[in-house]
Amino acid sequence: MHIEPSFRKRYKKALSDQTMLKAVKLGTGRLRAQRANAITAVGEDRWAAFRDRAEAIRLHVVQHLDQYLEKLVDNVIKNGGHVCLARTGEEAVSYITELAKKKNAKTIVKSKSMVTEEIHLNPALEQQGCKVIESDLGEWIIQLAGETPSHIIVPAMHKNRFQVADLFNEVSPQKIPAVVKDLCQFAREHLRDKFLNIDIGITGCNFAIADSGAVTICTNEGNARLITTLSPTVVTVMGMERILPSVEELAVMLSLLARSATGQKMTVYNTLFTGVRAPDALDGPQEFHLVIVDNGRSKQLGTKYEKVLNCIRCGSCLNACPVFRNIGGHAYGWVYPGPIGAVLSPLYQGMDKYGELAYATTLCGACTFACPVKIPLHDMLYALRNDKVELEHKGELVEDIAYKGWSSVFATASRYRFSVRMARRFQFPLVKADKIAYGPPPISEWLKYRDMPALPDKFFHEVWPDIKKD
Ligand code: SF4
Repeated sequence: MHIEPSFRKRYKKALSDQTMLKAVKLGTGRLRAQRANAITAVGEDRWAAFRDRAEAIRLHVVQHLDQYLEKLVDNVIKNGGHVCLARTGEEAVSYITELAKKKNAKTIVKSKSMVTEEIHLNPALEQQGCKVIESDLGEWIIQLAGETPSHIIVPAMHKNRFQVADLFNEVSPQKIPAVVKDLCQFAREHLRDKFLNIDIGITGCNFAIADSGAVTICTNEGNARLITTLSPTVVTVMGMERILPSVEELAVMLSLLARSATGQKMTVYNTLFTGVRAPDALDGPQEFHLVIVDNGRSKQLGTKYEKVLNCIRCGSCLNACPVFRNIGGHAYGWVYPGPIGAVLSPLYQGMDKYGELAYATTLCGACTFACPVKIPLHDMLYALRNDKVELEHKGELVEDIAYKGWSSVFATASRYRFSVRMARRFQFPLVKADKIAYGPPPISEWLKYRDMPALPDKFFHEVWPDIKKD
């Protein structure tokens, strides 16, 4: 999948894809409604208390991350597992590809993992001859399409059922109709036997539990549980911040995660496993590797962006965001889209590559309001804009002139009235059908997608005396 280097080109491409936009609006609308129902069922006050508790848990973990990481690593090793602490994505990829080489692995089955997307694990494994099979339905769809996820929890949100049917019909001996039930049935049958011949199973991790070394994986399809049950070797890849002190905190987070993500009371399969099977156990892996990925995360500790590490990847801010809902996920360019992606991408991948994403927001605050762990996303986006301007030292002169002019016009009522009267008199070359239709860049771009009413014949303060008389 070719990804344009500039945000402008990416969102323009997105705006021209009506099928994708319709699917995204439908998907985000459905998830928002389900989340709203879940909150109503819980009650606003209890929900607010839930969020406070979840925020406190995440803040505590992030502030004591070194201690919890140490505890987690000790316990995984005590349980018979191996740990790789990868500073970069490359280190994580090289650990896993070396392991695959050592095991002579041919078939690798994966459950959904945004971190493995982040570090580009699949292409590296495929390059050395492994067949990598995504077992999450959405991930499998985009794997067949040769694309990347467009949403954190619904990777194929941008596709409709007809497009999915076309993809499935490329690998199916019989024609599958574009009926959701038939498509799911086909995927289930096609993928099921893949679990019986796994050399290595790779999973993501929703939360790792420091005091037991257990890994928690939440899925609605049960695919991660099949992987951890049937693979001789399991590799779990996690972002270094995805830790909780104990199962006590897990109860809060699981309940909040499911409700925020899909409106469910609980995700269907919540798998907790401690790695290598016990000597008397009937199933479970003989070898377990936990790969803990930093890849830019530790750089945020102690900065004004530290709270971004609280994220539990529920996707709720994406569904709430008017920008995401109107351009979809691929326009963001990197693996994490939406408001959280617009913050993470420049922080993890560099301001030079993704700094423009700080403008992919209306600063309406809907993302912050939707976030179950209360990350102040819109404040962070605003701070990133400031950082970008400071970094580039440009735009200051133009902005200075514009704001000085604006402040001088608004300083007195007479100046303000004089300037709007002038604007009304001279706006006519720009007006069409009572709207401002033309303007110099960047206004011309803005006008392509939004309406700006022309200044009226009479302003409110001009008609108010007559209204008052009546
Ligand atoms: S920033 Fe908040 S709302 Fe967005 S994915 Fe993370 S936890 Fe969910």
